[in-house]
Amino acid sequence: MPETRYIFVTGGVTSSLGKGILASSLAKLLQSRGYRVTIQKLDPYINVDPGTLNPYEHGECYVTDDGAETDLDLGHYERFLNETTSQANNVTTGRIYQSVISKERHGDYLGKTVQIIPHITDEIKRRIKILGSKGKYDIVITEIGGTVGDIESLPYIEAVRQLKWELGTKAMVIHLTLVPYLAATGELKTKPTQHSVKKLLEEGVQPDILVLRTEYDIDITVRKKVALFCNVALEAVVQSINVPTIYDVPLKMLEEKLDLTVLKKLDLPIKRNLDLSAWNGFLNRLKNPTKTIEIGIVGKYVELRDAYKSIVESLIHAGAENRCQINVNWIHSETIKSNTVNDLLSNLNGMIVAPGFGHRGMAGKIIAAKYARENNVPYFGICLGMQVAVIEFARNVLNLEAADSSEMNPKTPYPVIDLMEEQKGVTDFGGTMRLGAYECRIIEENSNVRRAYNKLTIHERHRHRYEFNDNYKEQFIKAGMIPTGINPDTDLVEIIEIPDHKWFVGVQFHPEYSSTVLNPHPLFVDFIKNSLLEEE
Ligand code: GLN
Repeated sequence: MPETRYIFVTGGVTSSLGKGILASSLAKLLQSRGYRVTIQKLDPYINVDPGTLNPYEHGECYVTDDGAETDLDLGHYERFLNETTSQANNVTTGRIYQSVISKERHGDYLGKTVQIIPHITDEIKRRIKILGSKGKYDIVITEIGGTVGDIESLPYIEAVRQLKWELGTKAMVIHLTLVPYLAATGELKTKPTQHSVKKLLEEGVQPDILVLRTEYDIDITVRKKVALFCNVALEAVVQSINVPTIYDVPLKMLEEKLDLTVLKKLDLPIKRNLDLSAWNGFLNRLKNPTKTIEIGIVGKYVELRDAYKSIVESLIHAGAENRCQINVNWIHSETIKSNTVNDLLSNLNGMIVAPGFGHRGMAGKIIAAKYARENNVPYFGICLGMQVAVIEFARNVLNLEAADSSEMNPKTPYPVIDLMEEQKGVTDFGGTMRLGAYECRIIEENSNVRRAYNKLTIHERHRHRYEFNDNYKEQFIKAGMIPTGINPDTDLVEIIEIPDHKWFVGVQFHPEYSSTVLNPHPLFVDFIKNSLLEEE
């Protein structure tokens, strides 16, 4: 077996150029050539993980099977590669310092002064190599968060410099920069790229490949100029042009022969011709819809679309599967009132009530759930969205007027959603929710979920503290809201449905985390399929 190779992806000039998509696209090509690839994200912030971050700060918090709360780029890795990631795939500065400081407290450094170099950089290197040392991967792609030149990312770049030195041709660096277009002169400008590469050189790292983000084709003269000023081969200057969907990027990188240049640099053979037929099949379905559908996403972070990244991507996968174009209607839950609900929701073919925490926007979500239930509009409640459906049903069907989740109103007389037993007494916020994949057993043969999954045992990822309160189960069943999935170990209700409705499903877990291009999530697919059905 050849030794593991390491590819580092750094970014320059601005943030948000799409390092995660670039890393995922390259990984996809290498995977399609028969290599076993994984991707890791190093985040230079001090939080131990993004679990405690407000979604407005960094977008969605993505949860892995093993219960790690991670950066949303890991969602792209899984969606592109169709393989799961784990805690080892996301490391933050906070986590690095936490382990170095705990080693120091244990006396592991034998009285030495603990410093950024070598102790922090050694810990970074160790975390990078962990994935490679398992023998599971031929290639590990490590994406360094932030932009070159940031104070915070210096120790990471230093670790990359050392690893490049130690590993020789077994490591390489791809630097992603921006080539802006100046409308006034009608020119593409390379100076920001040159400066950014200089900055990287100052920090001791010579990039092997430059990927230039651009709105227009970059011609050979401009490429030659970049190659000359930045000490890279002409073939190693690659453009990444704007495309209609992120799922086009692997094909663009293929046109630029990025995969071949990488294999050559890493001294790896071209094992086989690329097989992207399944990927192209998806793109073909995505780009040739035969119908259009309006789907609402009701949430309180809608100003920042990244807050619901995985839900949006799951809808894209499910839309392609159903050959339909989904127009997402973003609906801020705080704007839904009894006098606005009709205007806001009446054009929808289906609605998703999104996950969330805290009281803000709850009233609007409850009005939305009531609207869906009463008007036979397909309803897909995810985590908090399931809890919302339960609260609404309790208030308006069971006539338990002040029913609530004890998260929103600790004094409610009817806590139909209540704190889980294991959560009582938990005081730390970080990493203490019910996290990661748990088994769920589908207990109703005649249910939407049974038809959608076509199996009885499923595994889905969780991220919550509250749950359906079993004391009310019988009342709900009698009135027509049925638990259709439960956790076999704890009996916790995982799924509720209203059988007497076109499609009304609430899930306590997060199906959006496990939808991929090659495996669109069955619940999203079924939700869209049923939202497409015309009223009889
Ligand atoms: N706030 C709710 C809970 O903690 C729902 C969480 C979520 O939607 N992810 O149970």
